[in-house]
Amino acid sequence: MSNHPVLRLKPREGRRARAGAPWVFANELVLDAKVKALKPGTLVGLTSDDKEKKDFGLGYFNPKSLIAVRLFAAYGTIDQGFFEKRLARALALRQSLYDRPYYRLVHAEGDLLPGLTIDRFGDVCTVQITTAGMEALTEPLLAALDSVVAPKHVVLRNDTPSRVLEGLESYVKGDVGRIEVEENGVTYFAEPSSGQKTGWYYDQRDNRAFMARLAKDKRVLDAYCYTGGFALAAGKAGAAEVTAIDSSAPALALAKDAAAANGIEASFIKADVFEELEKLGGSGKKFDIVIADPPPFVRSKKDLEAGARAYRKLARMAAQVTAKDGFLLIASCSHNIPMERFAQECAAGLQRASRKASLIHQSGAGADHPVHPMLSETAYLKALVYAMS
Ligand code: SAH
Repeated sequence: MSNHPVLRLKPREGRRARAGAPWVFANELVLDAKVKALKPGTLVGLTSDDKEKKDFGLGYFNPKSLIAVRLFAAYGTIDQGFFEKRLARALALRQSLYDRPYYRLVHAEGDLLPGLTIDRFGDVCTVQITTAGMEALTEPLLAALDSVVAPKHVVLRNDTPSRVLEGLESYVKGDVGRIEVEENGVTYFAEPSSGQKTGWYYDQRDNRAFMARLAKDKRVLDAYCYTGGFALAAGKAGAAEVTAIDSSAPALALAKDAAAANGIEASFIKADVFEELEKLGGSGKKFDIVIADPPPFVRSKKDLEAGARAYRKLARMAAQVTAKDGFLLIASCSHNIPMERFAQECAAGLQRASRKASLIHQSGAGADHPVHPMLSETAYLKALVYAMS
């Protein structure tokens, strides 16, 4: 068994963990004073408190967090060797998917490493730790990363707001300045130490390629372009005209430089997307391809209704600037809105714009963002592509 403290599930509680999910919620556990006194991040064993005495293996515990236990291993030592095996497994999957070393290397529970995200940009790795349990294991983890991947530079982006929920401080370690990202044959720029999230959104790789296939000789609008992901993929594929909008000046600076580096002509507008769409709509300007990939409108469950209205409004306004026979992609990265509801809101928006459309493609994040089969809600990214008539 275990030389770690062993926590117990309350009788008949822990439905999801019993079905194979790696999460146990605080209200499902027997929480006596001894358990409550455990340090955030302590490695624990977990059993059930019934006749069956089911053994769930090892996880880490945080008395401060709603998801109190994240299970991730059988009993054994969680050391550098353990992380080497998990990282090698994650690396092998990416190497079978991609020719070049540019991908999300670790996607938390989807790679059996809860609380950990690693994005790889050639010889730079951006590591993001979001839980006290993983934070406590930073040392063997980084040693394993060094032996399995041997990156020249590691940036610790431990500054996600969710760390507060785990009682962790916010910090960034390591500065690599501007680096190159290769994707779909385009060279982009990113700033892993200061950019949004880990510096780059690998999750949209396949959706960028999908839209690029439609873009030859077309007028393209990339709303919420960040560092130019969709815009430059379309430009590289031979778009006749590329317009991109974002509110972030540092992101637009990287996008502009990347356009120049790829020999792509594009115009970048620093603006609020809703305001700019209003203007463009008013002027009668149309685009053959419109991409709208906003920040999460539903940041928490209580924002669902307001966020849903925002998606509907975005669909309406984006449809208004999409030409007849054009294509419109609308994305949501809010895990708090299910695909079905998101699709309903987009449909309502198209209806309000008095546009007929056919849904031709529904997708999520690329295969370097694996989802734990028992945690389907962690498939946060949703993208819908409509053929507009
Ligand atoms: N499509 C991008 C990722 C978009 S992330 C890609 O392929 O990489 C969301 C972007 O929306 C961020 O770049 C952020 O700066 C921008 N943003 C947030 N609020 C905005 C607003 N009101 N108007 C315009 N851009 C906004």
